[in-house]
Order: sequence, then structure tokens, then C-alpha cells
Amino acid sequence: MMRRCLIYLIVNNKCMSNKINKIQSIRGMHDILPDQSPLWQLFESTVKKLLQNYAYDEIRMPVVEPTDLFCRSIGEVTDIVEKEMYTFEDRNGDSLTLRPEGTASCVRSGIQHGLFHNQQQRLWYMGPMFRHERPQKGRYRQFHQIGVETFGMASADIDAELILMTARLWKLLGLTDIRLELNTLGSAESRNAYRQVLVDYLNQHRDILDEDSLRRLETNPLRVLDSKNPDMQSMIDVAPSLMDYLDEESREHFKQLTTILDKAGIEYTINTRLVRGLDYYCKTVFEWVTDALGAQGTVCAGGRYDGLVQQLGGRETPAAGFAMGIERLLSLLEDAGRQVDNTADIFIILQGEQAQLQGMSFVETIRDQLPDVHIQTNCGGGSFKSQIKKADKSGAKVALILGEEELKNNSVSIKLLREQADQKTIALTELVTTLNTIL
Ligand code: ATP
Ligand code: MG
Repeated sequence: MMRRCLIYLIVNNKCMSNKINKIQSIRGMHDILPDQSPLWQLFESTVKKLLQNYAYDEIRMPVVEPTDLFCRSIGEVTDIVEKEMYTFEDRNGDSLTLRPEGTASCVRSGIQHGLFHNQQQRLWYMGPMFRHERPQKGRYRQFHQIGVETFGMASADIDAELILMTARLWKLLGLTDIRLELNTLGSAESRNAYRQVLVDYLNQHRDILDEDSLRRLETNPLRVLDSKNPDMQSMIDVAPSLMDYLDEESREHFKQLTTILDKAGIEYTINTRLVRGLDYYCKTVFEWVTDALGAQGTVCAGGRYDGLVQQLGGRETPAAGFAMGIERLLSLLEDAGRQVDNTADIFIILQGEQAQLQGMSFVETIRDQLPDVHIQTNCGGGSFKSQIKKADKSGAKVALILGEEELKNNSVSIKLLREQADQKTIALTELVTTLNTIL
């Protein structure tokens, strides 16, 4: 492999008369750069803590799965499977796919490892997902989700817990501009009954259906309701509603959910057009939506999928979950001016060759005594002036200066970088107490 790369480079070099082509990241797949990662970390640690508090456990699945897994779960006639999957052939001819979402993988894993039989599970995962979509703000080809999946709980209390937990997350993050849309898709039987009524209705309006909708009319008519085509909206608005065809059990389930949400003071609107893009949902579906991100307004979406475990070869297991799009939520946090201070507290200046050699072990002893303090050591030498400049730029509050004098006398000089004060030299033994009063 190595040799092949080398040969390629040599040949390529020749063709380009010594000019090496800079390789760029793939369209729609972005680096998360050092100035962006503190906000990612803040977001991720806030969510992790919350999930831990609600007694959810982490599960990590591979990013590549057999293609069949997604075709059989998400549905053949969905945007994801029809046009968005990154599918390729493995060297042995197997068809593999970069995961476009996590639910199917999580269910596959739970069946494979026996996590569902006679058990309840509350699980979460975090990581990249891949969909070949048209890249734009809030829509990428590699994006990141935090997904939460619960198994073995059939009643509406767990649906409510998922929603209450996300509502708490928005509060923790200081996001106020996110509203909840709720719907129920009923049981498979009630959906079938409704499907026929809807097909009849849509057939009466064939002339205004676009090409996608005509196709879906045959394969997955509920998805026509999901269309964003403005020319079809007024027809969709007055289409028969699934709410009117619900079976008793689904109606009761939905009633229980809304009762819990009402009691908890969670506001929502019932959107009977909300059908979600994936086939496996039944009963509850919900989306958290914001108007602040333009067309890419859904930041978190989920629902119940009682049939999926069985559909993928496991025993019948009730299940409900959601996934949130991290990039979209970070965009909201950025727009709200949220910044994370990740600067050093202390910058250490090592002045002179001796200090450069002996200073590193000195810094380690400080780290032993101040394990939570963010310390940046100047490496690479430089004049005192240039090191002070770096210290200032680092954002640190304090510079500790270690030069030959200090080394000789077992002392250290302290310079406050953010206020007017004279540089002071103190004994090394006093350092930690002194720093504790400053930081
Ligand atoms: P959309 O209607 O925006 O395409 P979706 O219904 O396809 O969303 P889900 O499969 O429910 O999305 O994924 C859950 C969440 O993941 C979405 O609400 C969104 O926040 C995020 N998400 C989905 N696709 C992308 C993408 N291509 N880029 C960035 N975030 C995404
Ligand atoms: Mg989509």
C-alpha cells in the first residue's frame, strides 16, 4: 500500500511539473477546527451529563454496516435509501454502507448481543453520520448526531421522558427558540386503513402531484404529506387526517403522552402532517423545530418504532428514540453568541538555555500541585520579549518566569498579565499558595 502511494506521488509529481496538488476535504465533509472544538466539547459534555443523570448508557457502533441493514429498516422508498447512502463494495464483494443514521445500527447491535430479551434499555450514542445530500448551511454529507434509543417500554411515559429530557437540554444550553411539534402515526393497522383513504384523495389530485409524489403515491403515500413543494401545500393542508383513523390503543397512547406533557408544562403543537422520513415509526413522532436556521429548522427528531426489532430479526420489542443534529444546535448556540473560554490560566516563560533544560521538570511539579489549572509552557526558546508577547496572546492571567537567577535561588518570578502590577519574585515553596490567591 505504502509503495503504491509512493509510486503514485512520484508519477503525479512528474505530471504536474513539481507542483504538488493540495488535497482538499470531500465536499460536505468538514474539519472541526481548534477554534470550533471548545463549543463542540461544551455541547457534548452538557448532553453526556444530562444523559447520565437520566440513567442512559452509552453504546458505540461501527460507522460501516451491511447495506441491507438500512434498506430493511429505514425503508426502500425513503430519501435516505433511494438517494442519500454512501454505498460501496468491500474487497470481498459485500455491499457496505456508511451509516446514514444510528437507530438501525443500535437495533442490530442489541439483537446481536441479546440486549433486548426481558430487559429494558436506555441507550445513547454520538458520532458521524453520512448522507449524500446537497451541501448547504445545516446540511452536510458528514454530520454528527447524538442519538437516544429506549427498548422494552411500551407506555407513553418513556415517550414523554425523551421529550422532557430534550426540553431540559434546551434550557441547560440557554436555547429558547425551539418549539415542539407532535403527531401520532397510529398502529400499522390504522395506518393501512388511512393509507387507502389518502391514496383515493391523492388520486383525485394527480394533476398537481410532482414526479416524486406520483412515485410515492404508489410506494409510500404517507410520504407525500411530507413534501416541501409549495405548489402542493394547499392540497396537502386539506388532505384527510390520520388522526381521524386512529385505533383506540394509539389514541389512548397519544392522550397519555399529551397529558404528561401538559402536566409538565411542555408546550407543543400537534402537526398532523408530520410523518417523518423513515419508515419504521409508529404511534408517537415528534420534532423540535426552530425558525432561526432557515430551511434546515429541525434540530431533533424522533418517535416510537415498536416494529423495528422484530423486523430486523429480533423478538417483538417496544422502542422509542430520537436523534439530534449537533451542527444545527451548535449553529443556534453560535448565533446566541455562546463562546467558550479555553485559554490557559498560566503561561510559563523559560528564559535562557539552562531554564529551557531544567524548566520542564519544574512545570511538572507545579502540575502535580495544581491538577486543574490550565498551564501552557513556552517551548522552542525565544527572547524574553517574544515569550512575553506569546504569553499575552495566549490569554493567560499569569506568566511565571523561570530564568537562570530564579533557578539558582530556587525562586520564580510572577507577572500578572491582565492588570497593572510589578513583577514579583517569590520562593518556589510559596508558589502554590500565591497562585491560589490570584487564579
Ligand atoms: P431533514 O428533514 O432536515 O432532512 P431528516 O428527517 O432527514 O432531516 P433525521 O433522519 O430525523 O433527519 O435526523 C435527525 C436530525 O439529524 C435532524 O433533525 C437534523 O438535525 C440532523 N440531520 C439530518 N440530516 C442532516 C444533514 N445532512 N446535515 C446535518 N444535520 C442533519
Ligand atoms: Mg433528510
